[in-house]
Amino acid sequence: MATTSHRNPVPGELDVLVVGAGFSGLYSVYRLRELGFRVHGIDAGDDVGGVWYWNRYPGARCDIESVDYCYSFSSDLVREWDWTERYPAQPEILRYINFVADKFDLRANFTFGTRVNGVTWNDETNRWHVTTDHGDRVTAAHVIMATGQLAVPQLPDIPGIDDFAGRTLHTGAWPHDGVDVSGQRVAVIGTGSSGVQVIPQLAKQADHLTVLQRTAHFVVPAKNHPLDQEYAEDLKSRFEEYREAARHHPGGTHRAIGTRSALEVSEEELREAFDEYWERGGPDILAAYTDLRTSEEAAERVGELVREKIRGIVHDPQTAELLCPRGYPFGSKRLVLEIDYYTTYNRENVTLVDVASDPIERIVPEGVRLRSGRLVELDTLVFATGFDALTGALFAANITGVGGLTLPEAWKDGPRTYLGIGTHRFPNLYFVAGAGSPSVISNVLISIEQHVEWITDHIGWLREHGHERSEVTEEAQDDWTRHVFETAEPTLFMKGNSWYVGANVPGKPRVFALYLGGVGHYRAVCADIASRGYPGFATT
Ligand code: FAD
Repeated sequence: MATTSHRNPVPGELDVLVVGAGFSGLYSVYRLRELGFRVHGIDAGDDVGGVWYWNRYPGARCDIESVDYCYSFSSDLVREWDWTERYPAQPEILRYINFVADKFDLRANFTFGTRVNGVTWNDETNRWHVTTDHGDRVTAAHVIMATGQLAVPQLPDIPGIDDFAGRTLHTGAWPHDGVDVSGQRVAVIGTGSSGVQVIPQLAKQADHLTVLQRTAHFVVPAKNHPLDQEYAEDLKSRFEEYREAARHHPGGTHRAIGTRSALEVSEEELREAFDEYWERGGPDILAAYTDLRTSEEAAERVGELVREKIRGIVHDPQTAELLCPRGYPFGSKRLVLEIDYYTTYNRENVTLVDVASDPIERIVPEGVRLRSGRLVELDTLVFATGFDALTGALFAANITGVGGLTLPEAWKDGPRTYLGIGTHRFPNLYFVAGAGSPSVISNVLISIEQHVEWITDHIGWLREHGHERSEVTEEAQDDWTRHVFETAEPTLFMKGNSWYVGANVPGKPRVFALYLGGVGHYRAVCADIASRGYPGFATT
């Protein structure tokens, strides 16, 4: 583990500066170091880990299986690391990331506890000038923004948010020494992935837990269990082949993809299949039929089966009805995995309050006041309200490109990229697994490895060809952005009022900016562009 008392100096001159020490930043630094570049990374956190460093709330867990949510670039690493659970919890993922950092001595090339607060392009020298909140000044030929998708916690726009006299917490910035809510009155606002994970854990400890729900999400069982070590060893023995299959799969996973419409199958057959998926756990039902992401009617058939399950688990019929998601199609928001979520509502000390019908009017010193006048008195208020996704961290870094254009100006109507990797008028600047790429629609680890390899190969290619500058052309960017939108247009994602479209951030343009063409197809497109000498990038 790193010590936080010592702060590595940031070199003044670099070939590549990497912002972020999560999975993306670590692999970028590793790879560029192997390629002989002067590379250094900076992270605002005091150590490695990215989201897994920050999101330490009880119950935090990955919803991709551990054997898939890991690096594949080093066979030694694959062999040496043993996962213990089907879905790894945050502490185990953080231990894994620390193991990687130690194994490859990556901390030597990072400065922690430091926030990048200015990234400005100099068109005459073809260099980025980067500043930090510690007063560091760095000149770098290339900058990789490995700042993740979910690095900036988002609070809701509720009046009086600073007036609360008790403790306020956000799941995305959870205190490292833990939180003891024993004997307390606690409320959670937010019932997406983080809310569904934290609620059962807080309910076990708190005197009383109130869940303030505006939107019920479609939630299916994770069915987590200890990892069968024989299975894990077998995968290790053929890991490269196993991983290669996922790299070319539409979701970057091993999910079986159905070939029939959900509208084609009988009620009995659908139920049988649904029950099997429910028992097995995980999100694979999403790929079971061809049209769950394009036909509202098909999605509704599965949606209604989820509601039936909820009614079967939650004892109080009124609470069960409130937990039944309505008003948007199944699959149009991130499908949430649960461990003990629905059963938590059978506890005596848990109350579900529907703030869609009785909205939160104000946060007051004593707790939360609803429009009806009802006061929910509290000691601790937990926001599980997500993140300013995809663009939040990029905008906060104050990036200014050619001619003084800032990134928020360039993307005022939503992100515009070529391949999700670069954007016009911001030469030598790269994004990892963000907008314009499959990103959070995929197993992000697969996407990260692919992006980091592509970006670092590109930087290597520029060096080999004596180029100093690589800028996405406007035409390539326009074409790609149109393609991303056209691919998303026919899908139900457009109907979900979710963080995928920025709906949780007031004033954010409602744009679905993730690439839905499939991880495998996307990889092939990127590889083709690289093999043809990077058309779409003006290199000089
Ligand atoms: P991050 O892990 O977000 O790291 C980015 C780093 O950049 C952060 O440490 C941050 O401090 C740093 N940073 C940002 N801006 C600055 C700045 N200006 N200066 C300095 N440092 C900066 N993905 C999946 O595929 N499956 C899952 O099940 C899954 N579960 C998730 C659960 C949670 C609770 C969260 C929050 C995310 C989850 N994700 C999941 C998505 C996750 O973001 C990715 O899987 C992956 O961890 C991203 O790694 P990264 O290195 O790209 O970014």
